[in-house]
Amino acid sequence: MKKKDLGLYIHIPFCVRKCAYCDFVSFRASENVQNAYFRSLLQELGEYQSLGNTCLIRTIYFGGGTPSIADPIQLMRILLLIRDHFLVAEDAEITIEVNPGTITRENLKAWKQIGINRLSIGLQSDNDDLLQTLGRIHTYDDFLAGYRAARAAGFDNISVDLMYSLPGQTPEMWMNTIRNLSALGPDHISAYALSIEEGTPFAKKYGTPEGAALLPSEEDDRKMYHDACEYLKAAGYERYEISNFAKPDRYSRHNMIYWSMGDYLGLGLNASSYMNGRRFANPADLNEYIRAVPKLSARMRENEPQTKKEAMEEFMFLGLRRSRGVTAKEFKEAFREDLEAKYGKVIKRLVRQRMLTFEDGRLALTDAGIDVSNAVLAEFLL
Ligand code: SF4
Repeated sequence: MKKKDLGLYIHIPFCVRKCAYCDFVSFRASENVQNAYFRSLLQELGEYQSLGNTCLIRTIYFGGGTPSIADPIQLMRILLLIRDHFLVAEDAEITIEVNPGTITRENLKAWKQIGINRLSIGLQSDNDDLLQTLGRIHTYDDFLAGYRAARAAGFDNISVDLMYSLPGQTPEMWMNTIRNLSALGPDHISAYALSIEEGTPFAKKYGTPEGAALLPSEEDDRKMYHDACEYLKAAGYERYEISNFAKPDRYSRHNMIYWSMGDYLGLGLNASSYMNGRRFANPADLNEYIRAVPKLSARMRENEPQTKKEAMEEFMFLGLRRSRGVTAKEFKEAFREDLEAKYGKVIKRLVRQRMLTFEDGRLALTDAGIDVSNAVLAEFLL
């Protein structure tokens, strides 16, 4: 029987310090807490071992938090257990998210030895003042040293995360960051606009009308995005998703699973999964998660599957984030329904408004559509 492709996400919630804008499930923790957490992760993984009969692991992604502060031995134990229970594709993409303030030669060597073959480094900015405003623990020089050490250690697939629309950031400052980074030639760049999240120090400071006035204007925000797209295109990066740019063959295969509605299993605190049409997420509270571990895998069978309507909406929301968009053929294969019969009116209107293109059965956002993507995608709610 042909095995089904599966992506694995493993959440490591520990950070050296909380960044001022961050609302991810991440925190400082003692060694004891970290050890207890890793025991639970191994236990959780064991609960899913029956999937090994039917699934082939295509990608493994250590996300966080800051997985790069974890003892590599803990990561190795997880990878060994994955290989015990599952068949892992020979060319599997195995990523670790890395904070530039935590890169050491020893860590790089250990990650390489245990089979990690892709680094996703969270730089965010090349401007030390902005890094300080964000509450990051590293400087640009830390990043440069870490990046060079990673290349020297043989990592040939490196992604770098950036943020724009930061407090006090001008389009010129941003383009300086883009120029500096693309001169280094990472294989992949993610560039997300700052989003002010409830409950963070940034929400207190910038979440009011007076505070919001300290952020770049909407016009500058769009300028930063378009200027970066143009520059990166000329530098040989393909924008394959609204916020993601890659050199040829260097798409994030793990993220492509999310955007293509492939199956993925999330392990650890607050991790979410999509398996056989069912969505489920782990508890966000550490103690609750540790207690729940023996029961978590049951949701794979017991949770209500998505309705066809929900699945169609997600197919459109996620698929249209990719530059290639979605095709009528894929829609038909997934749902046995015609894309135009379902969404014909919306498509016609949005094409007329130049928010979408629909050529040879392929539907995709235009640049104007990307600028208001949330509003455009909301039109695909049924
Ligand atoms: S390092 Fe990442 S996960 Fe940790 S607090 Fe900062 S933004 Fe959040």
